[in-house]
Amino acid sequence: MSSLPLSASFVAAPRLLDLRGEFPGVPENWAYLDAAATAQKPRAVVDAITRAYADDYATVHRGVYNRSSRMTEAYEAAREASARFIGGRADETIFVRGATEAINLVANSWGSANVGPGDRILLTLLEHHANIVPWRMLADRVGAEIDVGPLTDDGRIDEAALIALIGPQTKLVAIAHVSNVLGGVADVRRIADAAHAAGAKLLVDGCQAAPRLKVDVAALGADFYCFSAHKLYGPTGLGVLWVRGEILAGMAPWQGGGAMIDEVRFERVTYASGVQRFEAGTPHIVGAVGLHAAIDWVEQVGIDAVDLHERALLGLARAELDRLNSLRLFGPDDSAGILSFAVGDVHPHDVATILDEGGVAIRAGHHCAQPLMRALGVPATARASFSAHSTEADVAALVKGIERTMRIFG
Ligand code: PMP
Repeated sequence: MSSLPLSASFVAAPRLLDLRGEFPGVPENWAYLDAAATAQKPRAVVDAITRAYADDYATVHRGVYNRSSRMTEAYEAAREASARFIGGRADETIFVRGATEAINLVANSWGSANVGPGDRILLTLLEHHANIVPWRMLADRVGAEIDVGPLTDDGRIDEAALIALIGPQTKLVAIAHVSNVLGGVADVRRIADAAHAAGAKLLVDGCQAAPRLKVDVAALGADFYCFSAHKLYGPTGLGVLWVRGEILAGMAPWQGGGAMIDEVRFERVTYASGVQRFEAGTPHIVGAVGLHAAIDWVEQVGIDAVDLHERALLGLARAELDRLNSLRLFGPDDSAGILSFAVGDVHPHDVATILDEGGVAIRAGHHCAQPLMRALGVPATARASFSAHSTEADVAALVKGIERTMRIFG
């Protein structure tokens, strides 16, 4: 029996996923290419949310009746699943309203206690406003400074230049794992090692990574990691903040109210232990159940399969769009699931409007990344972002819409 040697250059074309039928909100003839803003929901998630409200609903942690105990179990099982999904532990995993609230929590709790006058916070040029504004507010409050790491020519975080900016006063480095505009993937481990060597902590904004990349907070070396459920096929109003255990243990609560206390007197309040002290008030109970369903769904599909699927479609889109004159593509060639572009001098809002007429939904604007827009020298970009339900037909509709835009604008 002879075995044929495989050519080193042979790369099997990844098989595309066929999941469109699982998304009730995405008809065949609608190219929804705005998953980076918010993901459409698979039926399994919609059903889990309906069931939670219709059949299983009750409050958590307080009720002594059976329904409430079962809901509490479901809520805590969602925490377990969320923690496991990113390689963390449940007792290090806090439910918040979204990535925005997660970063504000860290800035207000950890930041207020650990960043002082003259200290420095290191960000990058491509950060989302959610990973800029809370730090600006903290810096203004405590008299700290913000440093900004530059990008490479192809729109990645320039890791060497970023690391060179880490100094003895740097208390925190805060970076996006995947850029919501350019799709580049940061080498988080390299940045974590450099931050830790200087005694700084690392916060990773995983909003655009969690829906498409395998995340392992331990392997990444992150100290804080956060993402929003609604970008991971789950509901709005819920997010996950993972904090390394030994850091979490020293963090004071941020918001006060019910559910986060041990004992309340007018003179003195003591707080619940663990993550509970960061979850004031009645939580987004059904949101957690929905996120759990979303995680189960993604794990069943396989996060690597989603990533391969999106990259295959994005590669196709790049190749098609590369052929068009006067089209500018932003971001690295190997971007994950997200592609920003400009069609000549046409305003991105006009591009998006014409694409919408052809049944293609993209995002146009500054994408909550005004400093990045300034660095790119544009007021806004058009952005197509792919998802597990995207198809080759969506790519074809995108290309057709862009060609039509070019014809209309001459
Ligand atoms: N960071 C990144 C990279 C994002 O893409 C987003 C959402 N656009 C956020 C943070 C903020 O997420 P949310 O609005 O869900 O809090």
